Parts: sequence; structure tokens; C-alpha cells
Amino acid sequence: MPDRIVIVGGGTAGWMTASYLKAAFDDRVQVTVVESDRIGTIGVGEATFSDIRHFFAYLGLEESDWMPACNATYKLAVRFQDWREPGHHFYHPFEQMRSVEGFPLTDWWLRGGPTDRFDRDCFLMASLCDAERSPRRLDGSLLGRDVPEGVAESNALTMSEHQGKTQFPYAYHFEAAKLAQYLCGYAVDRGVRHVVDDVVHVALDSRGWVDHVVTKEHGELHGDLFVDCTGFRGVLINQALGEPFQSFQDTLPNDSAVALQVPLDMEARGIRPCTTATAREAGWIWTIPLFGRIGTGYVYARDYLSPEDAERALREFVGLEAEHVEANHIRMRIGRSRRSWVNNCVAVGLSSGFVEPLESTGIFFIHHAIEQLVKFFPGDDWDLSLRDLYNEAVGHVMDGVREFLALHYRAAARNDTQYWRDAKVRALPDGMEERLERWLTHLPDSETIYPYYHGLPPYSYACVLLGMGGLPLRHSPALDLIDDTAARKQFEQIRDRADELARTLPNQYEYFAQFR
Ligand code: FAD
Repeated sequence: MPDRIVIVGGGTAGWMTASYLKAAFDDRVQVTVVESDRIGTIGVGEATFSDIRHFFAYLGLEESDWMPACNATYKLAVRFQDWREPGHHFYHPFEQMRSVEGFPLTDWWLRGGPTDRFDRDCFLMASLCDAERSPRRLDGSLLGRDVPEGVAESNALTMSEHQGKTQFPYAYHFEAAKLAQYLCGYAVDRGVRHVVDDVVHVALDSRGWVDHVVTKEHGELHGDLFVDCTGFRGVLINQALGEPFQSFQDTLPNDSAVALQVPLDMEARGIRPCTTATAREAGWIWTIPLFGRIGTGYVYARDYLSPEDAERALREFVGLEAEHVEANHIRMRIGRSRRSWVNNCVAVGLSSGFVEPLESTGIFFIHHAIEQLVKFFPGDDWDLSLRDLYNEAVGHVMDGVREFLALHYRAAARNDTQYWRDAKVRALPDGMEERLERWLTHLPDSETIYPYYHGLPPYSYACVLLGMGGLPLRHSPALDLIDDTAARKQFEQIRDRADELARTLPNQYEYFAQFR
């Protein structure tokens, strides 16, 4: 069995992979992580998808074990600010869509919702975000049992077990560096060897497989399977093995970011239970509230904005608190390695692919990749079909998310700058134009979205279409022939329940302060 695993890179991807493989295979595999203390990690990546809970569950970790150590907070939704017009916002929540008479509530809302806010009319989470509530009460109990089926605690350990069945109501924000440190401790306690050194050479054998990596001070590290977690560099997968990188930039033009970590008095400011994505002149700014600071950054396209102007705009956006904070300028590689698993090398994290941080899918890609790695782990014969299955699954996830993100820009009503005007006419990924045509006459469903698993259910597409406001949408004609009493009742129930929860749940600061 390939039981000697060498992971190159100790960012979020490296340590998530090491700890997950130990949780899966225990002492039946030897794992080494080699990371450079000269080349830093990307230093961002602090908002997640709700499926991330299965990662921590798989490791046997409770929230109380790791959240305080990582200054983590809850995320109920992504808040899109100013994508339609200045002052407008809507949420894409982690909340399964309700249906009435066989039609999603959003379809009923299009026919005639009680207010002009589809998100508040159709979901509880939008009101909880507006009211800045924690999804847990001070005694730790979760919301209530009235959130649509399956939302309550699920025991599934992997995303695939859980896939499509439930929608857990929240994800996490956390300090990326602290999470990597926490997972390093977890992995090392379970026997992972940690080498701090630079990999200076990747030695291939006569078949073109990785034989060993050469470090500056620790000699050669031999292994059977090598995991490339070296970030955008792709030291093994792209540089040594020459696997081509396929750019997505024709459809997603943002290629740069500038980030700040701003310490703030979060008690006074409050901790919004959502990631905020605020549209700006040539991109958008993320705001991720943590316990003690915010993480923020401007994601933009260099074709439209210079790094200096982006930093200036970000500093203006944040205000005086950011005055003495050092900016981290990042050049993003948007797209994916053609194959993420080549010979005996698997790329996980940014080396495998990345589609810009809107909707926080980078860590989801890592989580998905390591679940698939365990699922398709090779035997002695290195059966090629396992590798092919892995590459298909990982490729589909990134290609699907690419479509979902492209939809945000096409659907946004904002058109006040060249960047936003160009977004309306930019090419869409292959096949998406036809899919989009269908969504305009019938809101997206499982038959009409990207056909392979990519982590995003049809309701997410509906939220983006309804919230961005730039495309004409129609309700299903059949709804004109169906009694709408049940739909109206559903809207009323959501409103009443949301009001009650907003009144009775604590705010996030109160909730997390009790663990300090
Ligand atoms: P890195 O963090 O770059 O780590 C690379 C590691 O490789 C480092 O330890 C480095 O020392 C090591 N290394 C490199 N070369 C060598 C060598 N020769 N020898 C030894 N070691 C080496 N994802 C989300 O899910 N949510 C978000 O909100 C989000 N926001 C993002 C915002 C931006 C602007 C960007 C660019 C990304 C964002 N991501 C987000 C993605 C997320 O940051 C990454 O998926 C995640 O941090 C994993 O990065 P990584 O570990 O692959 O690479």
C-alpha cells in the first residue's frame, strides 16, 4: 500500500490534509508535512461553507475544542451589499428552500411576495443576519426545530453522506493562521512528522513519478504518495510534473486582491453573523468578522484598477482603524490544474485550483478534495481508474462553482463603471448561456443547474438571480391557477418566527464572550 505520504506545504490545505488523513487511516499511514518558514502562507481564507462542520466532526472535534482557539464566529449567510445599486443588500443564506404545493417558495414570491425582500420573506436567516443574532442560545441549543427539514444537527461525517439531504444553518469564520496552527498540533499529536524547511528540488523517477523531494537542510524526503499543498506555486504538480494550468480568467476577470487584518473592538462594533461582499468600482470587498478583528480585502481586476488604487479604496472603506495595518497584496491564479492527481502526486488547495473568493469556496475545495482522496485512495496497483474518478470529481466541483460565480456578475444590476458594464457581456463558461436562458423562465432546479456535484443547490442560484436584480425573471405560469393560501400562510409563519428568534437569540459577541 502507498503508506508513506509526504505533504509539501503547511497552509490551510497542508494541515487540513494531514489531520484528515490521520483521522481516516491512523497509524496505518506515515505522514510528513514539510513547510517553508521563508515562503509564507496566503494569509487569507477565513470564511467557509456550512459543510465544513463535517470536517471537524470527522476529526472528532467539538466547536468548544477549536473555535475559541481560532477566534471563530458563526456565518449564517453571505450578505451582498450594493451589487444591485448603492444601499441595497440581500442574503444568500445557509437555509434549505421551503416548497409549497410542489413549487419553491421563491417561485411563489416572484408571483407576489408580501414585501420587496425575497430573502426575508422566504428565509429565517436573513432576519437573523439583519438583527445580528447568534444561531445558538447561551445554553448552546441551536435555533429551534422549526427550520426546514434536516437543518437540525446531522450525524453524517462526510459531505457525500450528507449531500443534498440537509442544509446546516451555519458555517464558520476563523483566523486562518490560528486554524493551521491548531490542526498542526492535532496532526503532530497523532504522529505526523513536521519538517520546517524549503523543498528545493523534486526528483522524478524514470516513469516521471515523484521519487523524493530534496530539502535545504533535512536531506531527501521519500514517500509513496506526495500531496502538493504549495499554494499558487504548484511546486510539484505544475513546476515538476508540468501539468498545465487552465485559466478561468475569460469568464472571471478578477486576478488580484489586497487584504488587511484590522483589530477592532468587536463588543462595540458587533459581530455580524455573515460574510459581507460589498460591490465596488472594479470588484468587491469582503468583510469577515472574527472575535477580536475583521479580515477584509478588495478583490479586483488589474485590467480595471491598479494595486495602489485598490489599496487606497480599501483603506477608505475601512476607515481610520486600518491606518497602521500593513496591506497584503496578492496576485490570484484563477482556474485549475487540468488534472489535480498526476502519477503519485495529488494537488490540494490553491495548487489544485481557485476561482476567486466570492462565496468562500476555497476551503470547501480542500475539504472536498481530501474526502475524495480517502474515497479513491490507491492500492498497491495504483489502479488508474481511481485517479480518473478523483480527477473528474474534483474538476466538476471547480467547473460548477465557476458557473455559479459567473452568474453573480452577469446578474448584477449595477452598471456604473466599465467593469460592471463589461460584466454584462462577458463570455460565460461553455453551456451556461443555455442554462441561464432556462432560469429566466423557470427558476433553477436540480435538472437545470450544472449537472455534477459542486456543493451548490438550486436555491443558491435562485437567491443570486433574485437578489442581483439585473435579469428579468418570471414565475411559473401554473401558480396563477393554484390557490395561494398555503404560500401566504408560509410567508406569515416565516415572518412571525423570524421576529421571535430575532427578539430572543443573543448576539454573537455575547455568545462567544462566555467562552473567554
Ligand atoms: P498557501 O496558504 O499559499 O500555503 C502554501 C504553503 O506551501 C505554505 O506553507 C508555504 O510555506 C509552502 N511552500 C510553498 N513552496 C514551498 C517549498 N518550495 N518548500 C516548502 N514549502 C513550500 N477560501 C475560502 O474558503 N474562504 C475565503 O474566504 C477565502 N478567501 C480568499 C481570499 C483570497 C484573496 C484568496 C487568494 C484566497 C482565498 N481563499 C478563501 C482560498 C484560501 O485562502 C485557500 O484555499 C487556503 O488558504 C489554502 O491555501 P493553500 O494551503 O493551498 O496555500
